[in-house]
Amino acid sequence: MASALTDKLTRLVKEMRGQARITESNVTDMLREVRMALLEADVALPVVRDFIARVKEKALGQEVLGSLKPGQTLVSIVNRELAATMGEGVADINLAAQPPAVILMAGLQGAGKTTTTAKLAKHLIEKRKKKVLTVSGDVYRPAAIEQLKTVTKQAGAEWFPSTPDQKPLDIAHAALDYAKKHYFDVLLVDTAGRLAIDEALMKEIKDLHAALNPVETLFVVDAMQGQDAINTAKAFKEALPLTGIVLTKLDGDSRGGAALSVRQITGAPIKFAGVSEKLDGLEVFDAERHAGRILGMGDIVALVEQVTAGVDMEAAQKLAAKVKSGDGFDLNDFLSQIQQMKQMGGLSSLMDKLPSQLTAKAGSIDMDKAEKDIKRKEGIIQSMTPLERRKPELIKATRKKRIANGAGVHVQEVNRLLKEFEQMQGMMKKMKGGGLMKMMKKMGG
Ligand code: GDP
Repeated sequence: MASALTDKLTRLVKEMRGQARITESNVTDMLREVRMALLEADVALPVVRDFIARVKEKALGQEVLGSLKPGQTLVSIVNRELAATMGEGVADINLAAQPPAVILMAGLQGAGKTTTTAKLAKHLIEKRKKKVLTVSGDVYRPAAIEQLKTVTKQAGAEWFPSTPDQKPLDIAHAALDYAKKHYFDVLLVDTAGRLAIDEALMKEIKDLHAALNPVETLFVVDAMQGQDAINTAKAFKEALPLTGIVLTKLDGDSRGGAALSVRQITGAPIKFAGVSEKLDGLEVFDAERHAGRILGMGDIVALVEQVTAGVDMEAAQKLAAKVKSGDGFDLNDFLSQIQQMKQMGGLSSLMDKLPSQLTAKAGSIDMDKAEKDIKRKEGIIQSMTPLERRKPELIKATRKKRIANGAGVHVQEVNRLLKEFEQMQGMMKKMKGGGLMKMMKKMGG
């Protein structure tokens, strides 16, 4: 886990306690830490320099408010400035055009264009009740056309066929015609990406832009691209009047510094964040929340949302009631607890969202191993009959072997799980209510 800026600044603050004003000398030390944090988060160097200069200007001479200490003041200045740079408020898709509103998707191959096209289709259908058509202009990779077809169907939108022997411009015109005739509200145009920027690609997408006159031209960029994002962003900004950015793969390990770089380079607002491979993994970008992530301060808001949205509340309450009464906690409940954990995005994504001050304690846990372990446990319980799950004490040696075979594990693992379950059952009886939330509170110390 990346070391957190707040930890370092807190240390610095301790060293300079008592100073009532941010001065040239104490701010230099702190800004060095801020700079490191931004670089660790993979913000591009020129962007970092610019940013630090702005923060310094704002910080110098600023009165320390009320009981705040200089370090905290600086963190809040940095936080605010980060959020402001990445865009304030939220910006949804602009559809203010004579229908069909055309949305052009641009970006490198692998950035997540096709996936995002389908995610947007789903978003526009479900949240804005629009009739949506998609089309692929990627005539170089037949598989890309097929991929769009598949995900468009999953999104519940209509797909307009195209083939590798057509010209992208002809495809665009035909799709636009069709969308007009059939009263579509939105036409989403997925385009060809290359592995790197090249002239032909840029000309092609420029021509498409001119022909389609899109109301939105979205630049799709992979958050994991880190420092490289800046060059890609430059090239696309020069070629196209970008109206928005979609930052994908924010569910990964990156601290998402690319957001700051890309926003600064293109000047376009970051509209959405991709947070999973699945089609519902699209979130309206929240600059303030993202500022916290870049600074390593944890994504508490997202965590809380995830805990409440991801979990089947009814099931959780039932489980809590059972735990409270201390009886009837069986392997089905154990399984349901494991599954709730999974619904929340797994252990590591949960840990990523907690402030690093809290997760430092868990630093020694191997997350990968822990998650695999959870999956194996799930497999074992699923290989049992309903009766066995209710009354594990009935499971005899031959059944254990069969269950192990079913789950693809050694019989020792079945034994271990049963033992763990027994211990948990005992613990549950002692503990009054709480379950997962209680556990998390404990983690928070
Ligand atoms: P394209 O070449 O730009 O069209 O990219 P694709 O849409 O084919 O995406 C490339 C890969 O990234 C695929 O494996 C997607 O499933 C994956 N992907 C796209 N967006 C996300 C995201 O937000 N999170 C994650 N984890 N994977 C994503």
